[in-house]
Amino acid sequence: MSGAPEPDDLFARPGLRRAAPKGGFPVPEMLGQVAYEVVHDELMLDGVSRMNLATFCTTWVDDQARRLMNESLDKNIVDKDEYPQTAELEQRCVRMVADLWHAPAPMSTPGTSTTGSSEAAMLGGLAAKFRWRKNGGAGVPNFVCGPVQVCWEKFARYFDVEIRQIPLRGDRFTMHPDDVADHVDQNTIMVVPTFGQTFTGLFEDVAGVSAALDEVESRTGMDIPIHVDAASGGFLAPFCAPDLVWDFRLPRVKSINASGHKTGLAPLGAGWAIWREPADLPEELIFNVDYLGVSMATFNLNFSRPGGQAITQYYDFIRLGHTGYRRVQAEIYRVSQHLAAELTGLGYFEMIHDADPRHGITAVSWRLKDLDAGFNLYDLSDRLRTRGWLIAAYPLPANRGDETIMRAVLRHGFSVDMVDLLIADVARSIDQLRKNPMSRPLTRREAGGFTHSATAAVPVKPAAEAAP
Ligand SMILES: *Cc1c(COP(=O)(O)O)cnc(C)c1O
Repeated sequence: MSGAPEPDDLFARPGLRRAAPKGGFPVPEMLGQVAYEVVHDELMLDGVSRMNLATFCTTWVDDQARRLMNESLDKNIVDKDEYPQTAELEQRCVRMVADLWHAPAPMSTPGTSTTGSSEAAMLGGLAAKFRWRKNGGAGVPNFVCGPVQVCWEKFARYFDVEIRQIPLRGDRFTMHPDDVADHVDQNTIMVVPTFGQTFTGLFEDVAGVSAALDEVESRTGMDIPIHVDAASGGFLAPFCAPDLVWDFRLPRVKSINASGHKTGLAPLGAGWAIWREPADLPEELIFNVDYLGVSMATFNLNFSRPGGQAITQYYDFIRLGHTGYRRVQAEIYRVSQHLAAELTGLGYFEMIHDADPRHGITAVSWRLKDLDAGFNLYDLSDRLRTRGWLIAAYPLPANRGDETIMRAVLRHGFSVDMVDLLIADVARSIDQLRKNPMSRPLTRREAGGFTHSATAAVPVKPAAEAAP
């Protein structure tokens, strides 16, 4: 031991005097405080989540929710026997969501929490595949959809199901019910309308698709079920557009997924998969675990999962209730509509979705009115990033890939005042771009990059996500 005392200041300690370990398993240990500072400081380079208008996910939660998350850090939701009350709260949520979506018998509807809509979508898709097979399906199963979130591409690839995406036609952004009949056959395990499209925020016409499938059935006898991907719309329409019929009120809808961590207002890691009635969830998908001496059905892709998300979702449900959700969601629609009006007022943009609760989610999407505006949306997105705003610009899917759109998803915690600050930055950015053009429009190839959307090959410059 040399006589020199260990330095007291964190930044003079060995762990912070050299670069953080980046590859290869680190050999030396360091003080918890030092390691914390290394990690904490590095994360300062991340964007500010509440200014990330590319994400759909919860970026603001209240103090009680934080406390409950903290208190349940150590609870594994799969241990039903050890944490029976966590299991109970999850079951209560399932019944509440089933009731919200008008399941015929919400007290006995099968459903589960998941890590998000992706897992819930896989489960809905798998149930459809097993039902199809049980009904004598043979050959290569397929499912039909419009422009979907990437989870459906994943479902198709991971579980060997053909994905049949109906191309956009005319000036529509959503799947046209009239096109559905041409894409289904006896191997179609389900049609998947998206209730809150990732590209535009628009609702697809679930009732229209259902009517189209009724017509197919009356003509051919094929009874094709619907799974609704209500990742973002499932906790909006029930409160702000209650007359819109998209859920289990339509007998053809056999299962629905939604993200609790999007408009459900729960912290990240919460999703819901709900079936219409027990017969719609094939037994092959069910595994039983111990629960207070009896066995309890589970159907998840994961085994261990954190319990806090379902616990906190239950807190949200009882804290806000129908009244509170309506108030919160209506306020976000109001703020989103303010954004749409202000963007329109700038004169350069045409709204695709202006946050009308009957047409879509609490988001605004827009395109340039005039392609010779003197700037493009990728440059605008880039420019806004210098002020910390993360707003995605990306091409439309499939056969409309030459068109660029921009989308801002507004969430609980975004205020009118923030919209005004954003609009001032948009106006300033446009001004600068028109004076100093940054680039000619990027071709799709140059744009490169990565998207969460299934069909669009390429968004683009902003690392901001096209969909969360
Ligand atoms: C976000 C989203 C998903 C994926 O949900 P996660 O909760 O992120 O797994 C699927 N479909 C749609 C329409 C979405 O918006």
